[in-house]
Order: sequence, then C-alpha cells, then structure tokens
Amino acid sequence: MKVLKFGGTSVSSVETVNNISNILKKSTENQIIVCSALSKVTNMLTEAAEKAAAGDISYKEICTQIEKRHYDFIDELIEKSQQADLKDIIHTNIASLEKVLEAIFFLNELSTRAYYIIVSFGEKMSNAIIYRFLKIHNGSVGYLDSSQIIITRTVNDKEHVNRSVTYKNIKDNYDPNFKITVAPGFISKSENGYATTLGRGGSDYTAALYAAALDAELLEIWTDVSGIYTSDPRKVKSASPLPKVSYKEALELSNFGAKVIYAPTIQPVLEKNIPMVILNTFRPEDKGTLVTVETDDTKPIKAFSTMDDIAMITFSGTGLVGTTGIAGRLFNTLSRNNVNIIIICQASSEMSICLVIDAKDANKAVKAINEEFDFEIRKGTIDKTEAQMEYSILAMVGEGMKNAAGLTGKAFTALGSANINIHAIAQDSTEINVSIVVKKEDSVKALNVLHDSFFNA
Ligand code: ASP
Ligand code: MG
Repeated sequence: MKVLKFGGTSVSSVETVNNISNILKKSTENQIIVCSALSKVTNMLTEAAEKAAAGDISYKEICTQIEKRHYDFIDELIEKSQQADLKDIIHTNIASLEKVLEAIFFLNELSTRAYYIIVSFGEKMSNAIIYRFLKIHNGSVGYLDSSQIIITRTVNDKEHVNRSVTYKNIKDNYDPNFKITVAPGFISKSENGYATTLGRGGSDYTAALYAAALDAELLEIWTDVSGIYTSDPRKVKSASPLPKVSYKEALELSNFGAKVIYAPTIQPVLEKNIPMVILNTFRPEDKGTLVTVETDDTKPIKAFSTMDDIAMITFSGTGLVGTTGIAGRLFNTLSRNNVNIIIICQASSEMSICLVIDAKDANKAVKAINEEFDFEIRKGTIDKTEAQMEYSILAMVGEGMKNAAGLTGKAFTALGSANINIHAIAQDSTEINVSIVVKKEDSVKALNVLHDSFFNA
C-alpha cells in the first residue's frame, strides 16, 4: 500500500482535484490519501482567531468568506444532487467555528487549546469534500478520523506525537477492504482528549505517520513544485529539481529556504525505511525527488539554501578561557527563555562563543544573558552582550562532503572573489551541512555565486 499527501494548493481547484482522482486511479494497490486545508484557509482561521481575541468583530467576515469558499468549491466540484448534505456538513462546521470565535471574542483571549480547535476546521472541511468527491468518482472509499487517531502529548508547551499509541490506533482502525481511504492531515487529539494539531505544515507529518504505522511501500508528497530544488528558484533562476536525495539531506533542506517538506515528516519514514517521493500535482508527469536512505553519489553537494532574519550574538570575555560551566549556564539561560539556537561556534582560544538565533528572539536573549552574567559583567570578566541584526545563514548541504576534500575551500574562494565577507562558519562532524553566516544584504548574491560555481560551471 502507499500513502499520498496533497497540500492546500493541490485541493483548491477542479483541475487539481481531477488530477488527484486520476492519480489514484492509476494504482491498483491500497492507497491512503491525506489532504491539507484549502490553500490559505489555515491562515484565514488564524487571522479570525486573532481578530476575535483583539475584540475585532470583523472576524465574522472572515468566517463568511471561509464558508463561501467551501460552498463555491462544492458547487464547482460536485453535482447538485449530491451537494445538500455536504453543504450541511460545512454549515455545521462553520456554526461550531463561529461559536468558538464568539467565546474568544467575549473572553478577549486566545488560549492554545482554542487556537487548535479553530485551525482544525480547515482540514475537517477540505477532507469532507475530497472524501465525497472520491466516493463519486473513485468507487468505495474509507475514512479515518485523524482527529481521534493521531495522539499527541504536551512536552514543554509543545505537542509531540505519541507514536506508539498513534501507530496502534492506525492499525486498529484501518480497513484494508477499502482500496482508497481518506485521512485528514494536521489534526490530532491530546492524550487528555482535547483537539490539537501537528504544527503548521503538519499534514506531511500525518501522512508519514500513516505510512510508518502500516509499513507502506511508498509515501508520496504531492505539492505545487516538482521536488526539492538545488536552491530556492525564486532567488536562483537556474535552480533545478534534484532527482534523488537521502533522508538526512532532505531533513537538512527541510529546515531551510523554500520549505518543501515539514521536517518532522522524515523521522517516521526513515525509521521504517519507507521511500518518499516529492511530486507536483500541477505537473504529475514530472519525476520529482526521491528520498531514501541512499544519496546520489555523483553530487557531493545537493543544494544551497538560505535562512534570513538571523541575529548574531557574541558572548565574550577573559572569564571564558579555561573556565568550566560558563557555556552550560549560557545555554541553560537561553533554554529557560525558550530561545532556539541555530548555530553555535567557539574557536579554540575560548575567548568567545558566537550564537546565531532567529532575529525575533534577539532582545529576549540579550536581556537574559546580561541578567544571568550580571556579576561577571560588573567584575569585567565577561563583556556585556549585544545582538547584531540583519544576518542570513547560507547552508551548503550534501552527504558527499564527508568523503571529499576541497569543497568548502571552493565555496570560500567563490565568496571571496565576489567580495562577500563571511561572519561565522559552522560545520559539525557529520559534514552534511556547512553553514556560513553572511550579511542579509549579501545573501541572494552569495547564494547565486555558490550555485553558479558548483552547478553551472
Ligand atoms: N493546513 C495546515 C497549514 O497550513 C497544515 C498543512 O497544510 O500541512 O499549516
Ligand atoms: Mg499548508
């Protein structure tokens, strides 16, 4: 059997839904299909929730737009005689959505739980429509209610999937007598029974969970681009899709640039060694990118990517040299304040530690560090920390860097010749990712310089 995931843009037009139906018809094996909400609907739901919490009554207009969007979609897709109860389902969902939003409006507060309930309506409605469409066009179709089957546990205020319980639920509920089964993406339930989600972009992860639980032969991620690219095509004109990458490379790339897959998706398929293909619903004949345990040895470097809006924090002072426990305190302070660290560098002189973080966390991080080391700062053994803004990270990714010499040298030479200054460099011993910090204003140029020198020479 195989699992197919279709993203929001793939379930938003008659053309692509017909493509989905035809894609499913091509295969004789059992298939589970996992769909996202119609494109932009999750954003609209979030906006409605934020407006309601801010006491802005115009959240009601957004509800009306969402309802109309689904009704129009049904009108386009499904013949009149089959519409009535489907529109009732949408109407019931919208009525519940309005009730929750009204409560938020009166409370003037958006709790995490209320947010989860609100955003879950998108997948509930889109999958109800797709389910009906496939029942009409593709024969008998089963339905798995992910909102009751995928179980999460809260750790540090974040929802994590409880995989053993989830896998058991999937196995217990899956009926292989149905050739096609629809299972909504993104939505889940906490161990305590309230609605949760798997995070923005989480439908990919839902699909991977179904695939792993049922030992699927293949996971297909259908999206609106033809695979994982050598770079972000919006920034690098000559970027092209990669035929083949390894799980590890896909994971590295999913954290960067044009996010083609949601990072947590990789782990379940990697553990079960299930191949994953990334395909384009708008161009179903394109080959896409195959992700397996093997890499493509002919390309030691697979892609260059950037992460923008980065801040650099330099933590320095004579008090660092040869002293144990300072780094521990630094990292603990950031962890207590929920600051995620993207890059850590320290040179062997031990005079400073450079941390690269998301720019939005910069003020919080600087304040926390200066408070924690107040005593040392007064004594003069540690310098007062400041954040430097407007940086970008440029990553070169590829498993082949492990066995090759001169690749980073080539990259640095190319950047040097283009007069691009490197502010920090990080490479860990896995050698899959070399991250280079440059000024944000240089990032697109740097990306093109590297892409050209490695792929277009
Ligand atoms: N609808 C959700 C989102 O937009 C989940 C997904 O699309 O994968 O984040
Ligand atoms: Mg989406």
